[in-house]
Amino acid sequence: MEKRPFVTKAQLDELIKTYPTPFHLYDEKGIRENAQKLKDAFAWNRGYKEYFAVKATPNPYLLQILKEYGCGTDCSSDTELMMSDAAGFKGHDIMFSSNDTPLSEFQLAEDLGAIINLDDITHIDCVEQTLGYIPKTICCRYNPGGLFKISNDIMDNPGDAKYGMTTEQIFEAFKILKAKGAEEFGIHAFLASNTVTNEYYPMLAKILFELAVQLQEETGVHIKFINLSGGIGIPYRPDQTPNDIMAIGEGVHKVYDEVLGAAGMGDVAIYTELGRFMMGPYGCLVTKAIHEKHTHKEYIGVDACAVNLMRPAMYGAYHHITVAGKEDAPCDHKYDIVGSLCENNDKFAIDRMLPAIDKGDLLVIHDTGAHGFSMGYNYNGKLKSAELLLKEDGSVQMIRRAETPQDYFATLDLCPMMKKYL
Ligand SMILES: *Cc1c(COP(=O)(O)O)cnc(C)c1O
Repeated sequence: MEKRPFVTKAQLDELIKTYPTPFHLYDEKGIRENAQKLKDAFAWNRGYKEYFAVKATPNPYLLQILKEYGCGTDCSSDTELMMSDAAGFKGHDIMFSSNDTPLSEFQLAEDLGAIINLDDITHIDCVEQTLGYIPKTICCRYNPGGLFKISNDIMDNPGDAKYGMTTEQIFEAFKILKAKGAEEFGIHAFLASNTVTNEYYPMLAKILFELAVQLQEETGVHIKFINLSGGIGIPYRPDQTPNDIMAIGEGVHKVYDEVLGAAGMGDVAIYTELGRFMMGPYGCLVTKAIHEKHTHKEYIGVDACAVNLMRPAMYGAYHHITVAGKEDAPCDHKYDIVGSLCENNDKFAIDRMLPAIDKGDLLVIHDTGAHGFSMGYNYNGKLKSAELLLKEDGSVQMIRRAETPQDYFATLDLCPMMKKYL
């Protein structure tokens, strides 16, 4: 499928008069339409709730848009919990799915009334010691091990993942938690990431639903919810077919009836913790071409770098690039699109066929709405960009300002020689 930006060159030309590049731009209309579609896809399940994975796009303005569609938040750190609290998420609207958890974070999660999802059987003692009791509602994260396959394709390798409890452990954990006073139980698993297939969620659901039936039979606990977590992907590449969320919802519905319905467990709520699917396509990184270099290869240097979007440098991830205003020009030039870090992996694209790029052209790097800005760091003393929201009426709101050198130096305020820059 052809990938076109959600913003035009004319809109960008106007925008850069106020906001210097680079910046991340989010598409409110796209976010809303997609959130509504997800809600529709799981409307068959009475207790359904999406807990947006805050780590994907931690911005309170965006969280509040999702809140309008009934979403909660999924957090795994103190600051994500704090942001959820500040954005008005309360009690069981917050899921705390963390791992290697500092004990103080269990306390903050409990203070906010969040649902705590235990990554390990040893965390039962950690929670009990920290809080002095076991919460009435509790969730355990499951890891069946082995390889996760869909029709002979290996989707991911849970046996190699640090998360979750083994089958034996989760049975044991449920018994212990019940003995210690827990009353409502949840099960969670995240077995494959960025899946671009409608089969992932139904397959995962089947594994968890069957486990739920066994757990309820063997331990007598009441299973209140099953959390399918994240992992529904997006088509980063133009040749990929997007997931059909209605088909995914129906696929889960079918196994729900077959497994849970048949076992008399038709009251179990389905939860999800999608991040990428909720935001990925509805954000882009806008950057300007500031240099061209002709050496052993053809390079275009842009004013963004891996600090603004780490995925290509970190895992060689593909992000589609459009040269604004040259959407219909022939892609007859082969470029490496690079940032300014002193790291040779700071390349947004390698050997990419694009239209001829002139200095000053605006490049739209697609699908940065999730795990984009949020993975940013400050290597080379590079600063994080602003985040802007393109509203439904076409106006633009700054929802995070760009970092300044003062922000970068703020933690050196103990250092008198830095004074002139603080
Ligand atoms: C990262 C994460 C998610 C979201 O994953 P996506 O790939 O963005 O859907 C959900 N739950 C947990 C526990 C996570 O760590």
